[in-house]
Amino acid sequence: MTQPSAAHQPVDRPQATQKSARIATSLAHAESLCRANRARLTPIRRRVLEALHNANKPLGAYDLADVLAPQGRRMAPITVYRALDFLIEQGLAHRLASLNAYTPSSQTSDSHGSSAFLICEGCGDVKEVTMPELSDALSQLHKNHAFAPHTKALELTGRCIHC
Ligand SMILES: [Zn+2]
Repeated sequence: MTQPSAAHQPVDRPQATQKSARIATSLAHAESLCRANRARLTPIRRRVLEALHNANKPLGAYDLADVLAPQGRRMAPITVYRALDFLIEQGLAHRLASLNAYTPSSQTSDSHGSSAFLICEGCGDVKEVTMPELSDALSQLHKNHAFAPHTKALELTGRCIHC
């Protein structure tokens, strides 16, 4: 008699659970951040944010409309754009100009820190890194050159370690 083998278990199960736990944490963080800012994370805004967290890559506004379509009526792109504007304003998402796509902010505590996005031209992988030095450098930029950066994220394109 053979025992049911553990090999039959879907291998990505623990990862999937981890991912949904991570998304739940991010959404809870977003809720409390919006509450603190007296901003409303409406169901539409929440769904857009959740879709960004669910995606394994940055999504364009039209991709988002497609992703969200099976969950109900298809969102008009203007609705998606408005939700994205809100999320960016709250520091919950970033727009990557070089990809014309959106990615959720990976920061869970300090929404005012500066990030660098490392965008691989080979595999399309995007990694967000936060460095205090970067915040300092941007503050210096502001002070020394009287230039107030509108975006607080730096985009660097190149090759990742796998490519
Ligand atoms: Zn790569």
